[in-house]
Amino acid sequence: MAAAGEAGTSGEASAGGEEAVPFPDLGRRWLAAREGLAVVHLDAAAAGPASQAVVDAQTSHLAAEATLGSYGAQERAAERLDAARAALAGLLDPALAEADVAFHHCATSAFTALLDAWPLPRGGRVGIVPSDFSSNLLALRARALRDGLELVDLPVLPDGRIDVDRLRRGDGPAVLDRLDLVTFPEVPSQRGIVQPTVAVAALCRDAGVPVLLDVAQSLGHVDATAAGATGGVAAYVGTSRKWLCGPRGVGFLAVRPDFVDRLGVPAPTGYTARWEPDPVAPGGGRLVAFGGVGRFDIGEAPVAARVGLAAALAEHVEAGPERVRARIQALGTAARRRLGGVAGWRLGEDAASPSGIVTLRPPRGIDPAAIRARLQREERILTTAIDETRARDAVPALRVSPHVHSTPADLDHLAEALERVTTRPAP
Ligand SMILES: *Cc1c(COP(=O)(O)O)cnc(C)c1O
Repeated sequence: MAAAGEAGTSGEASAGGEEAVPFPDLGRRWLAAREGLAVVHLDAAAAGPASQAVVDAQTSHLAAEATLGSYGAQERAAERLDAARAALAGLLDPALAEADVAFHHCATSAFTALLDAWPLPRGGRVGIVPSDFSSNLLALRARALRDGLELVDLPVLPDGRIDVDRLRRGDGPAVLDRLDLVTFPEVPSQRGIVQPTVAVAALCRDAGVPVLLDVAQSLGHVDATAAGATGGVAAYVGTSRKWLCGPRGVGFLAVRPDFVDRLGVPAPTGYTARWEPDPVAPGGGRLVAFGGVGRFDIGEAPVAARVGLAAALAEHVEAGPERVRARIQALGTAARRRLGGVAGWRLGEDAASPSGIVTLRPPRGIDPAAIRARLQREERILTTAIDETRARDAVPALRVSPHVHSTPADLDHLAEALERVTTRPAP
């Protein structure tokens, strides 16, 4: 359990003497739970490091499959998997319960499944943003080609955040009451911004436009429930491995119970739908979706990975989602203060942006991909290089994304290493 009375204000400061990062005890416990970590891991936005308990949950499930049989092991895990879906519902939206959440392969597959099943009229209009994840955008473009849809950019500020005032005024092509769907990532993967989801969801609710929210990069790191509480978000997609620090190969979707029956069947299989004979219907019958999010069931799945996600969610909830978010956001701010200007790297977003994603634009002639590789090889520091293929608004950058285990000392270490690898040739 969390130590009682842990002060949120007396945190650890970096060598630069900047403001403190809260909950250092939580950070130490989080790191101790990952004692095998052999790198300076500043890459949670790619894949947060799993705890030993998350690894153990998976290996013991695999062992149980070998001893009890796979289905016996799955039955034994059923309660933990239900608890995981309940935890996701609780983190997302007060209107959601366990039964409204379904596991999927990943956020991308969850998004394409939802989009395929989404009721959109021919010639319908879908509000999107320039920071949409490129895979999601491809799926949207394919659906738009098939059904003659129009993809319309919501108005955005220069940093990529949705311009709520212009959206409210209906300034630009994205007049809300002429849209059939709005979809965007709450936090994009290539920018350290957080969308004003609460305001956008409330406007969409008032205009009667459902929102499909991508929380792959936000859940576990910014507060998603506030947007859910507006009642304006119809459905969510997300992933296990990023800020939730769960295993690879698991994602999830969630749909509000008052909306799910408007969705069709994405992939008609024995897992998602049944055939109801009807002699007068063309083809002699009808496809009937399984109830609720059952229509998105993928059937055969890596159950051990889902058990690992369940363990990661239990740790997240036990640590206190608010404290996790506060520490990550403070680390993001501390990272921008420490790293902005180092060896000519410039911040890609406002220094105080409430995101754990920090982007650094390279000095002239420096390739972020080469720097990322050298940081990993020479300094054992994990970061990500962003290139233009990631999204329409992506620019080359080095992405730094600390999680709870990270410390101001890690940021100092990165700052010194970044200075070295930027200014000196590779050995
Ligand atoms: C990573 C990411 C995805 C895709 O998640 P997967 O689980 O890899 O499919 C979608 N949207 C955003 C914003 C992401 O960062």
